[in-house]
Amino acid sequence: MKAAATGYFPIVIGVLILLSLVLGYWGYTASEARLAAVSADYEIRLVEATDALARAENENRDLAGSLQAERERNDNFENQINDISGTVGKLDKLSRTDAELLQKYSKIYFLNENYSPVSVVEIDEEYVYGEEEYFHEEAWPFLKDLLEDAEEDGVELKVVSGFRSFGTQAALKANYRVTYGSGANTFSADQGYSEHQLGTTIDFTTEAIGSTFSGFENTESYQWLLNNAHRYGFVLSYPDNNAYYQYEPWHWRFVGVDLARDLHRDEKSFYDLDQREIDTYLIKLFD
Ligand SMILES: [Zn+2]
Repeated sequence: MKAAATGYFPIVIGVLILLSLVLGYWGYTASEARLAAVSADYEIRLVEATDALARAENENRDLAGSLQAERERNDNFENQINDISGTVGKLDKLSRTDAELLQKYSKIYFLNENYSPVSVVEIDEEYVYGEEEYFHEEAWPFLKDLLEDAEEDGVELKVVSGFRSFGTQAALKANYRVTYGSGANTFSADQGYSEHQLGTTIDFTTEAIGSTFSGFENTESYQWLLNNAHRYGFVLSYPDNNAYYQYEPWHWRFVGVDLARDLHRDEKSFYDLDQREIDTYLIKLFD
C-alpha cells in the first residue's frame, strides 16, 4: 500500500502541477481580459474627456471672440458718441459765439442799428479816463489782464472809449461833423458800423494826452501795445497807411488771442485778411 501510494505520488504531483497551470492560465487570461476591458473603458473615458475639453476650449474661444467683438463694438460706439458729442459741442460753442465780433465792417458790411453786445461790464474806475466806460463781458478778462500787465510794466494805459451804442455813435458823429466838417467821414467810423458798437473795441490814452489822442503814437504806452496787445487778443484796426480809415493808433479791437497772435506773427492787419479765413477763428474767440 505504501509502495503503491509512493508510486502514485509523482502522478498526483504532476496532476496538481498541471491543474495549477491550467488554473493559473485561466486566471491569467481572465484578469488579462478584465484589464483589457478596464483599459478600453478608460480609453473611452479619456477620449470623451478630451472631446469635452476640446469642446470647452472651443466654447471659450468663441466666448472670448464674442467678448472681443462686443468690446470692439462698444469702443466703436463710444467713439461715435464722442465724435457726435464733440461735433455737437463745437456747434453749440459756435452757435453761442457772436459772429459779429469777427466781422469786418466797411462801407459794404455794417452793423445793424439794433445790434448790442450780449452783456457789457463796467471797466474798473482806475483804468478809465473821464466818464465810466463799458466793455464786452466775455472779452473783459482779456482787457483786464492787459491793463494789469501794462501797469506792472510801469506803462500807463487809460480807457477813454469802450462800448458805444448806436445812439452815442450817431451823436459823436454829429459832433465831429460840426467840429471838422465833411472831414469827419474819414476821421470817425460812420454810425452803424463802428467797431465800438460791438463792445470789444477800446480807445486807449494816457492822462497827459486825454481824449484828443494827439501824439499817442509817440508814447511808450503805444509802443507797449504794439509789442504786447496781441498776447491778450487785441489788434490795431486801422494801422498807418491802411485803406479804410485814418490811422488810429489808440483804437484796438479784441479778436481773440489766436487770431491776434497770427496777425502779429505774419505782420498782417485784420482788415487785410479774407473774411472766410477770419471766420475759422470764431470758435476760439474766447479761448
Ligand atoms: Zn475807437
